[in-house]
Formats: sequence, C-alpha cells, structure tokens
Amino acid sequence: MLNNMEETKIYIKSILEKINNRDPYQPEFKEAVQNFLNTMEPVLDKHPEYIHENILERIIEPERAIQFRVPWIDDKGQYQINRGFRVQFNSAIGPYKGGLRFHPTVNLSIIKFLGFEQIFKNSLTGLPIGGGKGGSDFNPKGKSDNEIMRFCQSFMTELSKYIGPDLDVPAGDIGVGGREIGYMYGQYKRLKGYQAGVLTGKGISYGGSLIRPEATGFGLIYYTEEMLNTLNDSFKNKKVVISGSGNVAIYAVEKVHELGGTVLAVSDSNGYIVDTNGIDLSVVKQIKEVERGRIKEYAERVKGAKYHEGSVWNLDLKYDIALPCATQNEIGEKEARKITDNGVKLVAEGANMPSTPEAIQIYKQNNLLYGPAKAANAGGVAVSALEMSQNSMRLSWSSKEVDDKLKEIMQNIFKKSAETAHAYGLGNDYLSGANIAGFIKVAEAMRSQGLV
Ligand code: GLU
Repeated sequence: MLNNMEETKIYIKSILEKINNRDPYQPEFKEAVQNFLNTMEPVLDKHPEYIHENILERIIEPERAIQFRVPWIDDKGQYQINRGFRVQFNSAIGPYKGGLRFHPTVNLSIIKFLGFEQIFKNSLTGLPIGGGKGGSDFNPKGKSDNEIMRFCQSFMTELSKYIGPDLDVPAGDIGVGGREIGYMYGQYKRLKGYQAGVLTGKGISYGGSLIRPEATGFGLIYYTEEMLNTLNDSFKNKKVVISGSGNVAIYAVEKVHELGGTVLAVSDSNGYIVDTNGIDLSVVKQIKEVERGRIKEYAERVKGAKYHEGSVWNLDLKYDIALPCATQNEIGEKEARKITDNGVKLVAEGANMPSTPEAIQIYKQNNLLYGPAKAANAGGVAVSALEMSQNSMRLSWSSKEVDDKLKEIMQNIFKKSAETAHAYGLGNDYLSGANIAGFIKVAEAMRSQGLV
C-alpha cells in the first residue's frame, strides 16, 4: 500500500511522461505545465481525491483547440496566408477568457502555454472567467493600417464562429491593442449583429472600460506594492528596471513614478535605453503608441539617455526592483544571475512566463521576493471581466470606480497567494501559493460538474 506522498510523486511523474509523449514538440507548453506540476505536490498530498479523479490530466488537456487559415491581401495585391488559433482551455468557472497574440513566433505551443496560465490567473481574480487564448503568426510590424484592418477582418470572419459573450471572450495581448480590437469588433458585428460583450479592450466610445489600457501595468504595481509591504517598504526612492515598452510596460512606468520610484530603463526586442533621470513617459508613448517606432529613437530625443543593443537584463547597474514586461523566457539563468548581482531584491512579472525555471531557481537561492506572472499580471484580465460586467449591465463605471476595484482585486490576489503559501508551510513562495489557490477553485468546480 502506497502512502499519499509516494502516490503523489508517482502521479505527477506519470502526468509529466504523458505530456512528453503527447506534446513532444511544444516546449513552451511543457515548460508552463512543468512549472505548475512542480508546485502541486503539497496540494495533492492533502487532497488524494484529486489524484483518484485524475484532475491533473484533465486540466492539462484543452477542452478545444481550433486552428484555421487566415487569407488576406497585402497592399501590393499579393495573396497572404497566416495561421489562426483559439484554444478554449477550461470553462469550469466561466466562459473562456483570454487575449489574442499577433506575433511571428505564435504557434500551438505558445497559445497552449498562454491558455494554460490563463486558467489559473483568471481563477485568482475571483471573477467568473474560464481560460482561453488565441492569436496568429501574423507580424503586425511594418504593416500599413489597411493591411492590419484586412487581416483583422479575415481573422474575425473565421473566429466569429467560435466565440460569443457567454461562450468565449477574446481581448488583446502582444500585437493586439485598441486598433486591432476595433477592426475585429466591427467585423464581428457585421457578421453576427451587435453584441458588446464579445470582445474586451474595446474603445471607450463603443463599450470599452476606462482603465482597461492601464490595467495590467497598474495591477502589476499594485501587486508589487503588496510584496513590498511585507518588508515594510514601498516604491519610494526605489530604482526600477522594466523590460518591454508596450502597453504593460508603459503603464507600469507611469505608476512607479506616481509612487515615488524611478524607472531607469525600458526596452524592445532589439535593445534598451537607460535614462538615469527616470524614463520620460511622454517620449516613450509618442514613439511607441503614435509613431509605432523603435525604442532606440528615445536616445536621439532625450539628453543623457543611452541606447544599447541586446537584453536589458544584461545591464550593469545597481537597482532594486526588476519588472519583466516583455515576453516569455526573457530571463534565463545568465540574466537572473546578472539581476541578483545588480542588487535586485524583488522580481515581479508583467509578461507571461518571462522567467525560465532556471531563473526562478536563482531567485529562490538568492532569497529574492518573486511575484509570478499569473498573479502579478492578472490586472489586465480582471478589468476585462469588469468590462464584461459593464457591457451586461449596459452602463459604465468611472475611472476611479474601476481603478479602486482593480486595486482591491490585486490586493486580494496577493493575500490569497500569500495565505495559501503560509497554510501549506511554504513561507513566501508566492508561485506555489498562486498555483495552488488558482488550481483548487478550478478543480473543485470541475469535480462538482462531474466528468468534465
Ligand atoms: N492578454 C492578457 C493576459 O495575458 C489579457 C487577457 C484579457 O484581457 O482577456 O492576461
């Protein structure tokens, strides 16, 4: 007769083997699942019923994965074909909810990893939303506005068959912002009629929520404030480095500055700028949001700022807080070592899975406080859920109302993760806390609904 602990280990190993056999060519998805399974031992020891009902194997298998062809015509009149995806991962606690990513690296592995993370992130928000994700390998960089519109219309022509306000509600992610959501929404409406709640991240004039553009960045900083609180500390006079210069990074910079910290650097996929006077956000916004240009141009416009090629995490500078807000696996072992050598005490993730397992190990060994993505960046999807509520009620809340709710949600996520980590004797392991708390809610919903 096996005891619980042996049974748990054997079970987790069997799930890892299954995923290796079934999805050998999905490295990002395997990484996300492995990171998750590594934290499941204590909860399975306590709940052998999850093993007996095979919850883990059920939860790592998407309910549905849709792949489709997206044909469109470029400005030269050439026929172009991209691949579209929507992975409807888990609807145990609500309609599928999660963004769309348009980036040349997008494939089924990336969408599955994002969709898998989304299940637990959405669960942590406390709002009734399931997990999903989608996107395309379309590269929006360098495309004209008309090309973007034609692509979005074609993408939605197919996607519209699978989504709906009570079924699956996409939003933005990398490469999908207000402009793209607008074009997709317009096309959905032509095909299916008016349904405000079918997408979130809409413009304010047609059903969007105030604070949605700011939500992921602001939410990240609210969550990080809670982490700092545990050290009786705050953002005041802190030196901060943020990777990325998209929607998440921009509003994280804004909030850090509002709270008295200084952001020394931001980046894009080519390089990073260092401005020891603090990043001038109006310049970043002009370059990124208006001109859709490269961050390099900042150094040409702001005196004293310097541009460097490569990863911002190779930066040689003393600072206190690292906020990766660019993309998955941007911090590996080498970068994590550099971050610790630079004197950083806290890492909180605005991007999805920006730290590799090796990087997380290094944070742990060096006693850094670590705020994992699925908790720290949940503010975006949380306000998306608030947008859904406003659409259903046909009213809109003020900025303050939404911002107050966002703050409360982020504080609750932190509290829930921290309390769960404590309850399982895991100290300030917020990754385990977030995984376990997010998981238990979904697992219980699945169990109540029978064989789903
Ligand atoms: N793409 C965002 C995320 O990673 C937001 C998703 C949404 O608003 O549905 O959570």
